Amino acid sequence: MDLVKELIYVSKYIFERNLVLGKSGNVSGRMKEKCEDLIAITPTLKSLNRLKQEDIVLTNMNGDILTDGLPSSELQMHLAIYKEREDINGIVHTHSPYATGFSFSNLHLKRLEGFDKIKSENIKEIPYKVPGSDELAKHASIALKDEDVLILKNHGVVALGPTIEEAGDLAEFIEGIAKTQFVSNLLNK
Ligand SMILES: [Zn+2]
Repeated sequence: MDLVKELIYVSKYIFERNLVLGKSGNVSGRMKEKCEDLIAITPTLKSLNRLKQEDIVLTNMNGDILTDGLPSSELQMHLAIYKEREDINGIVHTHSPYATGFSFSNLHLKRLEGFDKIKSENIKEIPYKVPGSDELAKHASIALKDEDVLILKNHGVVALGPTIEEAGDLAEFIEGIAKTQFVSNLLNK
């Protein structure tokens, strides 16, 4: 699938599953070109539900914008992650309600089955950094060097994949395990 089409498809997919609400969330993909990699990213202040091809913003790895429109305010975070992870070509950032609810609590989200390698008991987290800031880009990209998913405290979730679709699947899976843990915590009270 063409990368821009895949970006629009996954954006709509995660919107329809309530992983992103209103105009929140952002998605990007990397095109590996001969001379330099290009990034396609969702625009700022537009619902991911109804993106058109012309809404998608293309940049190079320095963040220079190559098309019309303004990229997501989290462009720097996406670029920083791609620079750390040659194996990753898709990034999905959501404020999906259950996983984000955990991020606003002092409960950690446990890893459940479905991960290739179980590394630690809980999904990795980083402390709150201002959304869109260089600080967030730096801390998130360092934390994601050896993880494919990250909880941003008091903010949301970042999921990575070898493709945009796989990053979307992981974001969906994380929201699913957050729901399961919410219910089990309630039942066990
Ligand atoms: Zn966010």
